[in-house]
Amino acid sequence: MPRKIAVYPGSFDPITNGHLDIINRGLKIFDSVIVAVACNSSKNSLFSIEERLDLIREVISDNERVKVDTFSGLLVDYVLSQRASVIIRGLRAVSDFEYEFQLAQINRGITMEVETLFMMTSVPYSYLSSSVVKEVCSLGGPVETLVPPSVSKALENKFLLNKMITRSSQSE
Ligand code: ADP
Repeated sequence: MPRKIAVYPGSFDPITNGHLDIINRGLKIFDSVIVAVACNSSKNSLFSIEERLDLIREVISDNERVKVDTFSGLLVDYVLSQRASVIIRGLRAVSDFEYEFQLAQINRGITMEVETLFMMTSVPYSYLSSSVVKEVCSLGGPVETLVPPSVSKALENKFLLNKMITRSSQSE
């Protein structure tokens, strides 16, 4: 039987418990899941690609069924290059739907060989996004219940560093 491989693409800036939940649920359906960090995102990111990959690797630890990778260019091209046939995306609120629907239709227009599978968020993570986590942490709020401990530490360090840089540039 051929192995069923799915690609879970995203910005993962940084990975949250909501992402992890989707990965773990994906592993119940697929033999392996490739967590693919998009390099060509137009979004301003807090963490570099390397930092995001390291955080994901740390959180996944040594699960041989999960591969962590980056991709640039067309997602469907990357999916096919990995011998995968499914893209996993998560849906939280209705607000996610329009964008995700558009993306899935565009990808389907490019190739019928790749399916997009949507997974509904688990209730505790329905309002959880990387942006919310960054916002809360930047304001000094607790993020321990939203992200794994290593990510929480990385966020605190990042905002501390950003604060120090801002202060030193103000005093110049
Ligand atoms: P993107 O910039 O591609 O949206 P994200 O890292 O924000 O990248 O999200 C990657 C995928 O994970 C998206 O399909 C998003 O809807 C999904 N996702 C993010 N947070 C959650 C969550 N809390 N529950 C379910 N799915 C989520």
